[in-house]
Amino acid sequence: MTAAYRDFMRRHKSAYDPEMEKAFALAEEAHDGQLRRSGEPYFTHPLAVSDIIADLGLDNTTIIAGVLHDVVEDTDVTLEDISSTFSPEIAKLVDGVTKLRKIDFNSREEQQSESLRKMFLAMARDIRVVIIKLADRLHNMRTLKYQSEKKQIEKARETLEVYAPLAHRLGISAIKWELEDLSLKYLEPDEYYEIANKISSTRREREQQLMSVIDRIEDHLAEMRITADIEGRPKNIYSIYKKMHEQDKSFDEVYDLIAIRVIVSNIKDCYGVLGLVHTMWKPIPMRFKDYIAVPKENMYQSLHTTVLGDDGKPFEVQVRTYEMQRTAEYGIAAHWKYKERTTERDDLDEKLAWLRELMEWQNDVKDSREFMESLKIDIFAEHVLVFTPNGEVKDFPAGATPLDFAYSVHSDVGDKCVGARVNGKIVPLGYELKTGDIVEIITSRSSPGPNRDWLEMVKTTQAKNKIRHWIKRGRKEDSLAKGREAFEKEAKRQGYRPKDLLQPGWLSGLFKRFTLKNENDMFAAIGYGDISVHQVLSKLIEQYRAEIGAAEEEPVVRVVRRAGAPDNAESVEVQGTGGLAVRFGKCCNPVPGDEIVGYITRGRGVCVHTTDCRNLKDLSMDKDRLVDVEWVEGAAASYEVEVQIVAEDRKGLMAEVAQTLTGAGRDISSLTANATKNGSANIYVRTTITSVRDMQQMMQRLRDLQGVREVYRMNT
Ligand code: MN
Repeated sequence: MTAAYRDFMRRHKSAYDPEMEKAFALAEEAHDGQLRRSGEPYFTHPLAVSDIIADLGLDNTTIIAGVLHDVVEDTDVTLEDISSTFSPEIAKLVDGVTKLRKIDFNSREEQQSESLRKMFLAMARDIRVVIIKLADRLHNMRTLKYQSEKKQIEKARETLEVYAPLAHRLGISAIKWELEDLSLKYLEPDEYYEIANKISSTRREREQQLMSVIDRIEDHLAEMRITADIEGRPKNIYSIYKKMHEQDKSFDEVYDLIAIRVIVSNIKDCYGVLGLVHTMWKPIPMRFKDYIAVPKENMYQSLHTTVLGDDGKPFEVQVRTYEMQRTAEYGIAAHWKYKERTTERDDLDEKLAWLRELMEWQNDVKDSREFMESLKIDIFAEHVLVFTPNGEVKDFPAGATPLDFAYSVHSDVGDKCVGARVNGKIVPLGYELKTGDIVEIITSRSSPGPNRDWLEMVKTTQAKNKIRHWIKRGRKEDSLAKGREAFEKEAKRQGYRPKDLLQPGWLSGLFKRFTLKNENDMFAAIGYGDISVHQVLSKLIEQYRAEIGAAEEEPVVRVVRRAGAPDNAESVEVQGTGGLAVRFGKCCNPVPGDEIVGYITRGRGVCVHTTDCRNLKDLSMDKDRLVDVEWVEGAAASYEVEVQIVAEDRKGLMAEVAQTLTGAGRDISSLTANATKNGSANIYVRTTITSVRDMQQMMQRLRDLQGVREVYRMNT
């Protein structure tokens, strides 16, 4: 057994623990040769830390982790070494403390300290990690005089802003007070020493006062047969300093410098003592506080009252039980072992309510044992806390991604988000944020914006709603056009002219049924897929049939022409013919944009001609066999036409014609020429166009070629 461990056992009157012995030996050896800035061996530090932890009454696991708290970071010992030598719980605690060292609180904005404390708790994952850190910080503050002045200020400020309030939150006032006083000593040395000197110079006088008050209370308590410990409460320098500044008072005016603490064995006696004090001295109105009935959020319980002393100076009396005293000194640490005592469950649960609130606890924890267990394992399983680039802390549900982060900044940032950097590295948008990450969003003006996949990536409702909103708004116009097209297409397919169906009287019924505002709204709803074309169409057709009647129905043939051979049946798509085959007249070869009409041939279905086709003039004798035909808008891409070019017969003309066409991206399927006797040439070319207008442009380009006299479309 090492001397260090033997002394430790003696100091704390603790039983031998083989694991602790191993820890002492390992830490001493690992830190061997390292020195503190004070010149002492480094091992004195973890030793002091474990003393502080033991004084708080914490379990051996925490003490061992305290002894080992610096070995992973500062020596060759790895976390794996710890894991293989000690229990997983110890390894977890050491890992937690090691990770916390990486947060640099000083680089953050000052007003963020509350968030930083929260972050600290989140990263600690186990309250005992925080307690080890507090013990670590306390010893470092006690030995701060060996550091540079810059470091002293930095550490003192961080301690006052982060660590002392943490200790307060955990109810560990013993550590809180010392941290505050040590911080003040380095931050405001003049005021610190001034207050300290005044305290010591008035000590005698104060002690005399105290003694007489204590004597008088003791006499009366003896009469009442109440046993109690009475002590003069030492007030910490920082709280005097704070009071002087906050209330703008001088040292002498901070009246409750004298404070008496009466500690009794049960709650009944607390109120007994209070009544006694109030009969001995006149209580000052509004200064009585019953923290027994209503504990402070950090579990603190006590009765406080301020009374007017015999010399006219007020003083404070605090009355509490021994148990309350322990809680006041050690806070959560005092309650650590309660998990074994089931009768205390509800009580403890109530006391720890503040902690749950602090951590925005979401689980409904009914059992205190379960509660303590979950404290140990993962306090923030449901949360991740991350930093913005300027140190602001943001809180998200577990599984949140940079997109959640982006939308929490602003919906514009979310909508324009194209990527993210986490801890300086580019990550995918679906990256799962981890507590402690520093997140930076990359936006771009030319971002295509959110899409449906994003909905799967985000965890917050805020982000989900914003993405949905964007998709709806962004798609409104698209959807409107799409919905209208779908409606018209289906109406025509079923043989109706859309405008015949869209009667205001009929529509109003539909609007009501689907809670729509107007026609556009209806088409948009169809476009989104909120309602189907058929739901709308069947209602309208029903109305149409009822009011206009089936007799008057006049199917319209709708044709689409695809690229390809002009008479290829497959190039034709027909709607509303009731099964008739449709083809295009070879004579006129209609293309979209041409005025067209259909002719029902015997046994051959419908043949589509241009209205000015010569053949049609002959056919149109039989008017009953003509049927209305319309082009379907916005359909197929290109069509083939044949044109004839009449030109002067010159060299290179064929090549120029070919170049004009292919240069405009057209395909040429045939190109032939013949010379005439009068010195001109006829060139016949089959090429592609997208519409009549396109064809006219093509023909104009050909006419512009040198020597070209005329260009005709071949349709007869
Ligand atoms: Mn340390």
